[in-house]
Amino acid sequence: MDVKKIYMDADALLGGHFKLSSGNHSQFYLQSAKVLEDPKTAKLLADALAKQIKNSGLEVDTVCAPALGGLIAGFALATALDVRSIFAERVNGEMTIRRGFEVKKGERVLMCEDIITTGGSAMEAAEVVKSLGGEIVGVAALANRGFCKRQHSDVVTKPNCKLPQDIPFFALADFTFEMYAPEDCPMCKAGSEAVKPGSRGN
Ligand code: ZN
Repeated sequence: MDVKKIYMDADALLGGHFKLSSGNHSQFYLQSAKVLEDPKTAKLLADALAKQIKNSGLEVDTVCAPALGGLIAGFALATALDVRSIFAERVNGEMTIRRGFEVKKGERVLMCEDIITTGGSAMEAAEVVKSLGGEIVGVAALANRGFCKRQHSDVVTKPNCKLPQDIPFFALADFTFEMYAPEDCPMCKAGSEAVKPGSRGN
């Protein structure tokens, strides 16, 4: 399965000259929610991720996704794994689990995101699951930004990766691409102007 082509075709991976929210420039931009716009594509990706997880032998009782980005990926993955789906959400900046969701003591929970950058939100949500007695058995994402090493990839873990190294991290593809300070940007040097992604109105 060509995951990057699926992202490209869904306009979830854009090519061009972008000014990122960090101020850096990049030749690519990921708007990962777009790939889940078509439920058939969401199912296709979640099924592939579930297959990888099942093949690893990992036992999962529940998928937990941090809102908002992880919601659809988490639900689709839970469907594919045939397990319970819950989510954590921020209230006044604090990650919490509400809405009557319960976590049993020793429940094996897989954290799920649409995309893992450093894994910060997933780990904040994981702390809440742990405080309720759950056991974090792994992390899953459709896309990996390349700061953390996933299963079946040669990408090396970078210092800013927040995922624990003692549990597996599953993802379908690495989306590693260069980011440049504006003064070092080769595209700027070639005379093109960086655009803010989403300036088309999202
Ligand atoms: Zn530039």
